[in-house]
Amino acid sequence: MTRANTLDLVREARAGRYAVPAVNIADELSMRAVVAAAERAQSPVILQTSVKTVKFMGVEALGRMARLAADRASVPVALHLDHCPDRSVITDCIAHGWDSVLFDASDRPLDVARKETAEVVAEAHAAGVTVESEIENIIGVEDGVGSDEAIHSYTVEQLVEVARETGADMIAPQLGTAHGLYKATPELRVDRVRDIAALSDVPVVLHGGTGLSAEDFHAFIDAGVGKINISTSLKLAYMKTAKAHLDECERTGKWEPVKLFEQVFAAVEQDIYEHIELFRSAGTVQEVAA
Ligand SMILES: [Zn+2]
Repeated sequence: MTRANTLDLVREARAGRYAVPAVNIADELSMRAVVAAAERAQSPVILQTSVKTVKFMGVEALGRMARLAADRASVPVALHLDHCPDRSVITDCIAHGWDSVLFDASDRPLDVARKETAEVVAEAHAAGVTVESEIENIIGVEDGVGSDEAIHSYTVEQLVEVARETGADMIAPQLGTAHGLYKATPELRVDRVRDIAALSDVPVVLHGGTGLSAEDFHAFIDAGVGKINISTSLKLAYMKTAKAHLDECERTGKWEPVKLFEQVFAAVEQDIYEHIELFRSAGTVQEVAA
């Protein structure tokens, strides 16, 4: 299977009333575990990288690693750059084979966000790369990007108009969700997805999915969400499994790295498999092929 086009995956999902899982990977181990989960579930998958991960692993190594994982996979795999306010990182990722980028202009005033998003779209589209646009900030800090306060909020009409004018392929509006773990029950805004769908067929992306119920996910998907991001859940599965294993090493006095990798891999794979089922994306690859 060759690399997939992010926009094609999301459009097919929207038409089929499921959402493509978009999972933030932290390293090569979690990247392989996510692809394995997608293969077991027979689902397409989007591998997401934060700016922090790109900088830590290096854009060339990470791009090559993802290409190798995608080429070996039996399901469509796309590579996406998550929340990126830095245009030079976007240019680097486009040059190194990313299939899509999230240009996060939510820290800029509307007129600047509008102008710069149009510029990023032109640059990305020239290379066949899909653009997710964020002009309202999603609450919560993720890998050093973002804010706990709503800095910019607009009407649904404004969001649709900016997407139209800039040519953005997908939009990430405020939907009442937040990055990280919820301290209180979130007030979900499925109505905003419905209102956007009534005005435009631009796919909507849901951020801050960790901790939502199956009913919440299904309501968002039915309203028009085609891509759901998962980050915190993977981090928890990864780190808690590692901690439990290291505690066990301490207890037994046996220290074997490969055992740690196997356990982390299994925990991440299972966590993402369960999310794929929640997003109704399981089995969709087989259906397309049949
Ligand atoms: Zn996000």
